Amino acid sequence: MGFGRRRAVPVADAPVADSVEQALARDRAAMLYSYGRAGVAITVVASCGLVAMLAPYGSARGMSLWLAGMIGVQLVRAGDLWLSHRERGRDFDGLARIRRFSVGTAASALFWGAFPLLFFAHVPAAGRMAVAVTVAAMSGSSTTVLAPCLPLARFYCTTLLVPAAAMLIALGGREESLLGVLGLADCVVLLVSARTAHLSGVGALRLSRENERLVARAETQQRETEAAYRELSVAQTALAESHHWLETRVAERTAELAQEVRARERYADALARLASTDPLTGLMNRTTFTSRLARMLAEAERAALQVAVLFLDLDNFKQINDVRGHETGDRVLQAAARVLSAQLPPSAEVARWGGDEFLIAVNEGSGEGAGEIARRLRAALAEPLEIGADSMRMEATIGVALFPKDARTQDELIRAADVAMYEAKREGKGRAKLFDPALARAMAERYALEQGLRQAMAREELSLAFQPIVAARDGRCSAFEALLRWRHPRRGMISPVHFIPIAEQTGQIEEISRWVLQEACREAAGWPDPAVAVTVNISVAHVLAGALIADVEAALARSGLAASRLQLEITESMFLGDHVRAAPVFEALRARGIRILLDDFGTGYSSLAYLGQLPIDVIKIDRSFVVSASRDGYATIEAILSIARALGMEVTAEGVATAEQRDRLRSLGVQRFQGYFFSEPMPAVEVAAWLDRTGSPAVAAA
Ligand code: C2E
Ligand code: MG
Ligand code: MG
Repeated sequence: MGFGRRRAVPVADAPVADSVEQALARDRAAMLYSYGRAGVAITVVASCGLVAMLAPYGSARGMSLWLAGMIGVQLVRAGDLWLSHRERGRDFDGLARIRRFSVGTAASALFWGAFPLLFFAHVPAAGRMAVAVTVAAMSGSSTTVLAPCLPLARFYCTTLLVPAAAMLIALGGREESLLGVLGLADCVVLLVSARTAHLSGVGALRLSRENERLVARAETQQRETEAAYRELSVAQTALAESHHWLETRVAERTAELAQEVRARERYADALARLASTDPLTGLMNRTTFTSRLARMLAEAERAALQVAVLFLDLDNFKQINDVRGHETGDRVLQAAARVLSAQLPPSAEVARWGGDEFLIAVNEGSGEGAGEIARRLRAALAEPLEIGADSMRMEATIGVALFPKDARTQDELIRAADVAMYEAKREGKGRAKLFDPALARAMAERYALEQGLRQAMAREELSLAFQPIVAARDGRCSAFEALLRWRHPRRGMISPVHFIPIAEQTGQIEEISRWVLQEACREAAGWPDPAVAVTVNISVAHVLAGALIADVEAALARSGLAASRLQLEITESMFLGDHVRAAPVFEALRARGIRILLDDFGTGYSSLAYLGQLPIDVIKIDRSFVVSASRDGYATIEAILSIARALGMEVTAEGVATAEQRDRLRSLGVQRFQGYFFSEPMPAVEVAAWLDRTGSPAVAAA
């Protein structure tokens, strides 16, 4: 029996993701069904042919029933085939379908197996042979066609062959028995070959499935590789772009940096220029000049040359500033700087030292040569200078110092030129003066004082003396003036007239002044008479330093002295330089109950005009007026007294040295006296005894 033309075994469509076993089951089912139609057709043809051929020999009715059953089974199988055909392409359960197919095929096999059992007894030997040949053929081809399902193939062979062979052996003669035996042997061979066919068929299917999976995996991998490659190339493109961008950015940044560096260099240059030059005139400033001069001196030393330093100060510049304004003042300074630079050789160094002072260094050894340069500079400045619409002539005073004759270091040399200039001013401005070696001694002394003063406080060389101020009315001591004393280890007592200006110039006054305040308050707090005040001299420099109020408060707080017992002595100069800053400070101190005394009145500046505007309680008439009054009359003192009265201020006379002076001043209306007639300044320890001795009105009246 044949199953028609061989076709390529169809492989069921299935998702690759299924396991190999599931796919294999579907392949096996598909293979069974692909041969199914031919199987059904051959079964129908063979069964009809056999029944047609053998029915005339008897049991026609039984055979018809058998055929009807067989046809029924084939119809059911055909329906099953049609169903599976219709479901093709859809996913299906392979094992279930194999089971479905097996049921139909097994039913066919059972019908075939029943035929010899039911009908062999009624048919002739030839008929039996024909049936045997038919079932042998059909079971022969079944090993291939049913190979996908080994149990089904085995069942089919066995069910078809064994009953027929058994019936042939049981019923027939020798030939038929032989045929039956052959049939059994055939059955055994077919059972074996069914296994082989099954293994090779299913193996091929498995191989194909695995191949397919491998191919699918390879394709997936290829797709993944391609995708990765695409991503890679995108990334490469992006990389190339960013690389390009980076290169551009680096180039831009490099250009920017170069620009920044240039700007910074320019800035550094400008800074260096600013740091080294005077912004107003464009000349060198102090620092630069000093270091240039140092270099010049070192070179001069090596080459045995000489250097002249000229200290030039414009005369009456303050007046120009005050009268014509700062703007004109600035223009005058700029014009002066131009004139000086034009007059000097290129090797000369010229600087603005500050204010209206200029410094010049030239390689010039002789006094005459330097004097000649000074003369030339003064002459050039005396030429009319065009300042805006005005034309002005400048006068200058010049001090000259020579290296190495007058000084050996740049600082000393500048100081020497300064001293010479100062001397020239003192002698009457508008001239040049060479440094006088005699001045050097004064300078050295001053320098020594400066140095000594720095250590004076630490070495406890400073002390206070107290001079009483007494009331004119009853002679009672109303206050003591604290006067600073410096006992120098070698020179003995140094007057404050000498060292206070040095302390002011060297910036030591603030510290010293603070100490005096504290010391004076501390002493006063210990005096037996609580009505006696203490007066303390205050320097302009201390006020301008800005901490006077705090220092006063600290001194009062520490000593426990009442503010009403502290008086401060200031000079008129306090209000000349910085009236705006000084006045509020004293207003604030007065508000705390501290009295303000105007010291040395009449010596400095004729400030009668604005005396009324100053925060002053007491005017102290300077000793010089008292001395001269005894000689020349008291008119000036009377004038001062009338102004003071008009302004509601008290008056104290300083330097009262005689009883006549006292009596005269008292009769004119002076309220208090201070002077040697009453007492010289005394050490602090003597104050209490002095008060005991002289403090009573009875003693004072004597
Ligand atoms: P001053 O404030 O006018 O002080 C008065 C000066 O005149 C004192 O000189 C005093 O000894 C002196 N004197 C007083 N009565 C007579 C007299 O009858 N005849 C003569 N010939 N002299 C008399 P001293 O102590 O040498 O002080 C001089 C100046 O030093 C003071 O003048 C004051 O301006 C300043 N001074 C003193 N101590 C200090 C201080 O602690 N701080 C500040 N900033 N200046 C002070
Ligand atoms: Mg004084
Ligand atoms: Mg005085």
